[in-house]
Amino acid sequence: MLNKTLRESLRDVPVVDRSDVVVVGGGPAGISAAVSAARNGASVTLLERYPYLGGLAAGGMVLLLDDMHNDTEITVKGICMEMIERMRSIGLCHTPPEEDRMPGRRETQENWKKYSRWGMFDFHTQSMPHPVCFAAAFDPDGYKKVSYDLMEEAKVKLRLHSWFSEVIVEGGVAKGVICETKEGRQAIMGDVIIDASGDLDVAASAGAKFQEASFIVTTVSRWGNVDTDKAEAWQYANPEEFQRLDHEAKRIIGGCWNYWWLKTPLPGVIWLNCPHMPQYSGLTVEGLTGAEFEGRKRMERLMTFARENLPGFEKAHVVDFAPQTGVRTTRLLEGEYVVTKDDVMKRRHFADTVCRGRDYYTPYGALVPKEVDNLLVAGRHYSCTPQAQKKSREIPPCMAQGEAVGVAATVALNAGVTVREADVSAIQKQMRAQGADPGDVPSSNALVMEAAE
Ligand SMILES: Cc1cc2nc3c(=O)[nH]c(=O)nc-3n(C[C@H](O)[C@H](O)[C@H](O)COP(=O)(O)OP(=O)(O)OC[C@H]3O[C@@H](n4cnc5c(N)ncnc54)[C@H](O)[C@@H]3O)c2cc1C
Repeated sequence: MLNKTLRESLRDVPVVDRSDVVVVGGGPAGISAAVSAARNGASVTLLERYPYLGGLAAGGMVLLLDDMHNDTEITVKGICMEMIERMRSIGLCHTPPEEDRMPGRRETQENWKKYSRWGMFDFHTQSMPHPVCFAAAFDPDGYKKVSYDLMEEAKVKLRLHSWFSEVIVEGGVAKGVICETKEGRQAIMGDVIIDASGDLDVAASAGAKFQEASFIVTTVSRWGNVDTDKAEAWQYANPEEFQRLDHEAKRIIGGCWNYWWLKTPLPGVIWLNCPHMPQYSGLTVEGLTGAEFEGRKRMERLMTFARENLPGFEKAHVVDFAPQTGVRTTRLLEGEYVVTKDDVMKRRHFADTVCRGRDYYTPYGALVPKEVDNLLVAGRHYSCTPQAQKKSREIPPCMAQGEAVGVAATVALNAGVTVREADVSAIQKQMRAQGADPGDVPSSNALVMEAAE
């Protein structure tokens, strides 16, 4: 970096919009937050830097909604489930039917073969085969389409191509945001600001305390013209040869999860949740640029190997690389409550639980920054330790958090109080009323706490 700085001149910024609720980031958490607040009567503006909605679920081509089902029930419902049903109704989402998830059947070898390449299994269990669980494999454009439909129906004011750059805070209260656009800088004012940027851009700019963390970065891609039936049949008929070649494939790209390719609802099209690249920052231009270049190179090597060696991949080709870099972790809020790995693993239940993931609970305090008023956060940057985030950042729980803060914003606005003072029981009640699971009733194996610490 050149050891120089420039001083910018003071400029007037036009105020282009004002809403009760301003949501920054149109990913899974932001979509749910905007729809939830708008359905509860608030005027809502949603800002997104890219020309599409969906965040990592669409632009990142992370094509599996999981972590939403425990041993006995589906725990993330509400807007997430509504999106699944809407995508399913247009043939762009695949889920396992209930009969295949029943005890006695879910852990059979037959089911494992049927669902493992969809990623629809509970990989938290040690036993093999892993039992089938509820999850949804979807198409990225389906996720975008359904998101647009929800925005339009809820009358959310959508501002794409708007890159958040600065928050407006007066007397410790968030009042609006400034973003960069083709037209120059623009200000959007709001009574409640929701940070759903995934990288805590707004809360960090507002001076909220956070922890910086990093984890593997991935350039997700999709390949087409793969004979998935042939590939699966060969895998199960030739386990030793499969192990050898699969190991070599993983070595070529420098590491990845066990099932590095999964099926999508489009026949012959697979998504590749690899490679794993630990050394890139999701917050720097150098890190993000470097990850794109390195990821492509590794995946090109894998494609050559797969075409030459793996049955079913002989005629495969790249469909696309995800337009959004696969960044899992950057900044994590240190809010009113910081969720720990222990909380997640022990299924700690909190009196102010407002939503849940697979079998863990999210307290409202983990969505509220300490230092700034009328600012809420939802999504992968919520207030938790890096170890807890690894276990609780999947798309459905992020959507559940978004839905909860959308409700919280309107509960606070209607009561004329700050979001910090919002009535948690009213949030829980409204979440339930709109079909979401606020997690207010702990399951029998939860560790119940008297109140959020
Ligand atoms: C490679 C990879 C694989 C994964 N695999 C799975 C999986 O199989 N299943 C699963 O459920 N989850 C998976 N995850 C996790 C999951 O994708 C994320 O945790 C989840 O998408 C987080 O949602 P979010 O809304 O918090 O953030 P994001 O999806 O990151 O959305 C944030 C949104 O904010 C926008 N934004 C950011 N900064 C600004 C700004 N300054 N101005 C305006 N807009 C901004 C972004 O463009 C984006 O639309 C995976 C993640 C990665 C990276």
